[in-house]
Amino acid sequence: MSRRSFSTILAIVFLLTSCSGVGLSGLTSTDPTLRSNPDGLTTQKPFIASTGSPITPDSSQVPQPPIARPIYTLNAILDYATHSMAVDETIFFQNDTGVILPDLVMAVEPNLWAGCFVLRGLLVNGQDSGKPSFMGDRLVVPLVNSLVPGGSLTISLQFDLHLPAADIHHVFGFNTRQINLVDWYPFIVPYSNGWILHPPANVGEHLTYDVADFDVTVTQQDPSTPVVLAASAPEEKIADGSHYILKNARTFVFSASPSYQTVSITTADVTITSYYFRGNETPSGAVLDAATRAINTFSDIFGTYPHSSLSIVESPFFDGMEYDGLFFLSQDYYKTYDRKLLSNLVDLAVHETAHQWWFGQVGNDQAMEPWLDEALATYSEELFYEKNIPNISAWWVFRVESFSPSGWVDTDIYNGINFRTYANAVYLRGAQFLEAVRKIIGDEAFFAFLKDYSVTMSGKISTSKDFFRILGTHSKANISNLISSYFQHSK
Ligand SMILES: [Zn+2]
Repeated sequence: MSRRSFSTILAIVFLLTSCSGVGLSGLTSTDPTLRSNPDGLTTQKPFIASTGSPITPDSSQVPQPPIARPIYTLNAILDYATHSMAVDETIFFQNDTGVILPDLVMAVEPNLWAGCFVLRGLLVNGQDSGKPSFMGDRLVVPLVNSLVPGGSLTISLQFDLHLPAADIHHVFGFNTRQINLVDWYPFIVPYSNGWILHPPANVGEHLTYDVADFDVTVTQQDPSTPVVLAASAPEEKIADGSHYILKNARTFVFSASPSYQTVSITTADVTITSYYFRGNETPSGAVLDAATRAINTFSDIFGTYPHSSLSIVESPFFDGMEYDGLFFLSQDYYKTYDRKLLSNLVDLAVHETAHQWWFGQVGNDQAMEPWLDEALATYSEELFYEKNIPNISAWWVFRVESFSPSGWVDTDIYNGINFRTYANAVYLRGAQFLEAVRKIIGDEAFFAFLKDYSVTMSGKISTSKDFFRILGTHSKANISNLISSYFQHSK
């Protein structure tokens, strides 16, 4: 493949994204610990209607072997000084879609920035499989031999990243203090009656992810000027770099800076590390405390935190942004921290921690049904304060009522208008809806539902139908009028 033929340069898309708004051996496809439940990825199978009967397997059928999760092996050489990186990527992929695939669709987010992504090579099972095509962040990879259900293949890619200067609406790229690598490698998007890859919008996140396993090695081009790395998984030091293993996650991200200060705590076998810049010791400690308490609180309510680490990274951008095992928080919240528990810094740290369940474990189509993770993450803030600071009803005023929210909870990112109206509808009205459900069905049923929903949909991509189907198993209360008043598509 010629280098130029794939360096499709697109106009920069400015997004107003926001969420709160060896030792270990390498991973291999035969590692039994990587096998997922064969029913584990509902997005790749037809949705079961809420009134439908469970599918009973034909006893004459031969049991099918389980489908392995995708495995991403990424070897990156980071040149911090020039804001660039050379990457070798290998993806093991087994077809769990139930249909024959003539091609694969990958999301290549760096291609949304002009001149950022340069593809140097792409092979399928070690062979040239024809000319892939780019359209924005969508890379279509044709297959010489269509992939049958249960069949597997390996894609290898070599590419360079020339990082853009990050703006206040993005964490991706470089700023004067750090480099942030999020959605930095091509990944195969989920499939459910078609590939799920929506275009970017002015508000919200547009990507949907299957769960996968990651084996990531980052070496530094110039080890004489070392940088500290914050990542989605615990670091194993290797010569001139770092190695990471992350299993059963949506995405692997990391951040690099020569200036990071760190403070850590380990609780319930989870090591939480706050990465911050000098002068922000006090707010960084508050973030660490909030995230620690949030992990303990949410592990009790939703189910055990799934990873062995959580990294929290200070960054000069707008708001907060969640990823598996790592989230970013706006430097503004550190600067304005007033040592109060009811502050943007603490509240948003709790919100982003909640996304480890509502995004990380329970996935969703963030473009079309953002309420599934954002309403739950917002309401999780209320649960945090309720469980940790009795009699702090002021959260509702601070976070919700002061904005007099309106709008439909099931607003998608393309109808959000602007961030405030979008957040008011999806996050704040969403939290009000969940509170109203709780009052109708009672605490016992509500909390049983939350844990059931979290555990049942863990590792899958949930839909509104899944949400209400599972809710319906915990209460027979009629909430149709409530749904009609909060949801545009309430039938
Ligand atoms: Zn959020």
